[in-house]
Amino acid sequence: MSIYYKRSNCRYCSSKDLKLFFSLGDQPPSNSFISKKQIKLEKKFPLRLYVCRKCYLVQLLDVVSGKRIFDKYSYLSSSSKALVEHFQKFTQNIEKRFKLKNEDLLVDIGCNDGIMLDAYKVNSKKIGIEPSDVFKIAKKKGHIIYNDFFNIQTANRIRDKYGAAKIVTATNVFAHIDDMYSVLRGVNRLIDKDGIFIVEVSYLPDLIDQNLFDTVYHEHLCYLSLFPLNKFLTKFKMEVFDVKRKKVGASGPSITFYIKKKINKRKVFLSVRNLNNYEKNWGINKLKKYLNFEKKIKSNKIKTLKLLNLIKKNGNKLFCFGAPAKGNTLLNYYNLNSDIIDFVSDNSITKQGKYTPGSRIKIVSDEFILKKNYKYALLLSWNYKEFFLKNSKFIKNGGKFIVPLPYPKIISK
Ligand code: SAM
Repeated sequence: MSIYYKRSNCRYCSSKDLKLFFSLGDQPPSNSFISKKQIKLEKKFPLRLYVCRKCYLVQLLDVVSGKRIFDKYSYLSSSSKALVEHFQKFTQNIEKRFKLKNEDLLVDIGCNDGIMLDAYKVNSKKIGIEPSDVFKIAKKKGHIIYNDFFNIQTANRIRDKYGAAKIVTATNVFAHIDDMYSVLRGVNRLIDKDGIFIVEVSYLPDLIDQNLFDTVYHEHLCYLSLFPLNKFLTKFKMEVFDVKRKKVGASGPSITFYIKKKINKRKVFLSVRNLNNYEKNWGINKLKKYLNFEKKIKSNKIKTLKLLNLIKKNGNKLFCFGAPAKGNTLLNYYNLNSDIIDFVSDNSITKQGKYTPGSRIKIVSDEFILKKNYKYALLLSWNYKEFFLKNSKFIKNGGKFIVPLPYPKIISK
């Protein structure tokens, strides 16, 4: 299979009526942090957002294959303390709400290093599906791990061996998969009438309203909202029965969709109707909502570059705090590189010593940066701003964050 291909139809409804509304140019895959040796071999692919004019799913049609992205994957979910806390609260809520018992089977799609499976307190059988090398970390912790992509075949293997799952979760992975028909057929096979499927993703209206363009990268193939999702689920006789919007998620604000089979008589909560109305009023099916986006982002870019140049002109040096994948979209779209930014600091050892894709800035440890006495840092992990304001030594030592989104601003303790 080739590493890049271009789809011609919508991932959910198959319509070919797709409107391009934001082009971010050619970019390398965002989680592909590179060694010095790999710099020459780096490949870039078009990064463009389309909206389907039939079901209004926002998506990329330029697909860098999952094999290419997830083969050598450097993202470790548990390296973010804020995310670990988030999953502890999340699993506690699931255990209580769905009255989980030790005999229930729990399955996590895209379990990464086991962040969600670790957080469950209930003593159930926990199965993770993780295609990247990171599976080894989750396996070492004692979870049952399938080192594979999730699809109907993987689902069949799990169901045949372990029976039906009570809860299937897919956090920050549901939007990452091209063949969604195989995923939904797989989930349908894994859960029986009473099973629940829980999806956590970024929410499209937040992305558009808060200028969160940096969450667009090749790994994220879809940008979800309830409207297209519920239409798609109908094809599999499934539906959303509850939704919860959250301020913190892996890439900024997030939304949790609770999904069931239609034959399950569980109540559909008012939250679903409310969100449907919210999306209609917001303009989910109005093209103009999407067409304004590029203009807003370009204006943000100009403002941010002005601010950074002023800080430099005043004799300050700059580094980036955190090396999240989304930071690479921002660095590349804003054309920021080592001419203006000296280093990127990150506490993930899989990233340290490497270079940011495209912009090629060296990644160093937090300790290394502290010794350099920087005053200003561009905060690429802006979604954990509150956490870092409270906990980071850089801020405690008097440093200031330049928060790039929704609008550039400087903050400190
Ligand atoms: N679920 C974790 C979380 O919320 O922090 C990890 C999210 S990470 C952004 C996405 C994970 O999904 C990666 O570990 C990746 O290897 C995995 N993944 C990607 N495609 C997948 C697929 N088709 N089936 C299962 N896992 C997949």
